[in-house]
Amino acid sequence: MELDQHAEELASALGVDKEEVKSDLQNLLQYSVPLDEAKQSVRRKHGGGTSGGDAPPSSKQIADIDPDDGNVSVTVRVLTVGTRSIVYQGDAQTIREGELADESGVISYTAWQDFGFEPGDSVTIGNAGVREWDGKPELNIGASSTVGVESEPVETPYDDRIGGDESLIDLDAGDRGRTVEVRVLEVDSRTIDGRDGETTILSGVVADETGRLPFTDWQPRPDVKEGASLRLSDVYVREFRGVPQVNISEFTSLEVLDEPVAVTDAAPRLTIGEAVDAGGMFDVEILGNVLEVRDGSGLIERCPDCGRVVQNGQCRQHGDVDGEDDMRVKAILDDGTGTLTAILDRDLTEELYGGTMAEAMDAAREAMDKEVVADEIASKVVGCEYRVRGNLSVDEYGANLEADEFEETDDDPAERAATLLTEVRA
Ligand SMILES: [Zn+2]
Repeated sequence: MELDQHAEELASALGVDKEEVKSDLQNLLQYSVPLDEAKQSVRRKHGGGTSGGDAPPSSKQIADIDPDDGNVSVTVRVLTVGTRSIVYQGDAQTIREGELADESGVISYTAWQDFGFEPGDSVTIGNAGVREWDGKPELNIGASSTVGVESEPVETPYDDRIGGDESLIDLDAGDRGRTVEVRVLEVDSRTIDGRDGETTILSGVVADETGRLPFTDWQPRPDVKEGASLRLSDVYVREFRGVPQVNISEFTSLEVLDEPVAVTDAAPRLTIGEAVDAGGMFDVEILGNVLEVRDGSGLIERCPDCGRVVQNGQCRQHGDVDGEDDMRVKAILDDGTGTLTAILDRDLTEELYGGTMAEAMDAAREAMDKEVVADEIASKVVGCEYRVRGNLSVDEYGANLEADEFEETDDDPAERAATLLTEVRA
């Protein structure tokens, strides 16, 4: 009836099958999407844009595609195909994303159905929608697009990117359909509130010869275990707290490698200025002089529910709580190019303090002042140069380096002078 008419109108405007348009509309209406919005959405899905777009798509070189082009046809080499499940208009949908190349350039694409092309294939894609993403054009390949196989391979200077094999250091947020060979260094399982209720995921750290990155396996597999060397095909990369994270999905294929993957033990050494400019790094090493030990160092109390630091018995989130004792250090470091705050956990703090938490608490009770512990730590570290390795996050609150290692540097004249001074004082 009414829906029939809408479907007919839309189908003839878009030049696609009426039954398909009707079932798309029905699908959306079932999720209480208003009719107008549903029609817009079906139009977008079929690459129709909002204006209807009657002009026939023109054949273009990738470098010439403009975000305002509407629809285009391209003859390209498929570089990568990443598969991902998304929720679109309330509906779970499997999409393919990746990159296409020709002689002139590379372009990202999203395909809303499986056209069956694979990395290395040469194809002509007809009637692909162009949209803008992050200031750059992207191709939207939908039900009204056509994909035809080319018998001659399309020449492209980017054919070394076919298949998406990458080293960890080259992965960027937004990468899709990548293949990596890595060793699993750490893995933990966690329960989260997922799309379909509580679900268990794995998270940890993977490494290769070029670096280390955190990963999440959304579909836990027994082969993802500490020490395993794996070839992971079709992973995608997302940014988490300023750091690229490798995502292993239900579509990732996994091969256990007999030959162990070589991994680096070293973290890249950067100046503080470089590291902060990079906007967050998973594993980095810096050298800097401790300018100050900040408030909230030494003996602290944490909320038993959320782990936040409790002040005067109050958690910002949970109000009045019975805090749990902990130790940490927040030290400001400077190397002439920038400053950051190194955050040390209890173990590193005890090491720096030169005593256990129980001993620190005894000292605080004796002095009737918790601050004596932070003061003691400050007297040891302020003015000295330290090598810090850990995870750097940069946000509006500043640059924080969660330290895994915090060691005083050797062979440093300033440090030797400081040691000498302490000895003279003692
Ligand atoms: Zn709390």
